[in-house]
Amino acid sequence: LAMLDRLEPQSPDALLALIKLYADDERSDKIDLGVGVYRTGQGDTPVFTAIKKAEARLVEEQDSKSYLGPEGDMGFVHALMPYAFGKDGTMGGRLAGMQTPGGTGGVRLAVALARRAGVDRVHLGTPSWPNHAQILTDVGVETATFDHARPDGTADADALLSVIRNAAAGEAVLVHGCCHNPTGIDYSPEEWDTIAEAFANSAALPILDLAYQGLGQGIDEDAYGLRRVLAAVPEALVAYSCDKNFGMYRDRVGALYVLAPDAGQLPAIQSNLNALARASWSMPPDHGGAAVRVVLRDDELTRLWLDELETMRARMRQVRETLAAAGTAGSVDLAPLAHQNGLFSTLPVSKEQVERLRKEHAIYMAGSGRINVAGLHQGNIDKFVKALADVTG
Ligand code: PMP
Repeated sequence: LAMLDRLEPQSPDALLALIKLYADDERSDKIDLGVGVYRTGQGDTPVFTAIKKAEARLVEEQDSKSYLGPEGDMGFVHALMPYAFGKDGTMGGRLAGMQTPGGTGGVRLAVALARRAGVDRVHLGTPSWPNHAQILTDVGVETATFDHARPDGTADADALLSVIRNAAAGEAVLVHGCCHNPTGIDYSPEEWDTIAEAFANSAALPILDLAYQGLGQGIDEDAYGLRRVLAAVPEALVAYSCDKNFGMYRDRVGALYVLAPDAGQLPAIQSNLNALARASWSMPPDHGGAAVRVVLRDDELTRLWLDELETMRARMRQVRETLAAAGTAGSVDLAPLAHQNGLFSTLPVSKEQVERLRKEHAIYMAGSGRINVAGLHQGNIDKFVKALADVTG
């Protein structure tokens, strides 16, 4: 009597399917705007020089690969804190943290911990990173959605504020810290001030997801909202990814931080995090977190890392400005892209138009209209704008 034959096939991840289609396309001027990784003007996703140097040191100096604990490399977890939370961002000793397998592991652990603490409903602005909703469902909490952006391409802070103000006990609100995926539309500092104040007076537990720090406006600018919220509230959860801002993607580098109302609650919180991690992945992969720790504990490597990050940020800003300067392409207004942040923007195009871009112009992007702006450079932007005009005009 078989049981596994009861499994229904699941729809494959659309973006992964797109990677394969792109690889199989033989047109030499094809453009990949699908997968969410940074690319240089030459189309490469290189290992950061700072990371290469740190890895060389690790190979030289690491003398054991014996187990760490479920919390992973705490040197890494602590070294990251001044970047995420600010120079004196220890929050009066009210923060617990641990390493996780990527930002995904951080989000997963945050939601699982929230559920243990009694959260059964999580509010999520849509569209969002598709895995947010999948994680919420898989952990077993209800997903409630609200609109992240207005039709005019600005953030709908009022929608978020109303959710925060009306939330009941047992509810959490999941917010992107910066470089919103998939729209690139972030809240302004003034909006964050109001959001922080609303959280301070709300029953809702804030869950902040910071997956692109440094890829938007700068290290401190991109953490503005996170820091404002944490300064205002008694408790919050923060999922952090180093996979973009250190280029560590496949090495799965992330962390979860928990702000507790009182330092006395940290041991109980930490023990629950450890138990959840033990039951999920036991302990995070070590290598990437160790390499990031080596970078952050060395002034020269840190400078190198910040320089590399600035180069990435400047390049994406330049692509955005070039697109915006084109004005409109067919029915698509490209001007708002200049004010959006990070790797992604979402264009108002239909699934059919996305398909025509792929078939007729060898341009690959998500069916939602999301583009990775880092897939563009001086050599292919013109082609992209003309193709967009062709399919939407
Ligand atoms: N949160 C958001 C909003 C993301 O876009 C991503 C990555 N695509 C993650 C979390 C997780 O990143 P990773 O697990 O690769 O570190």
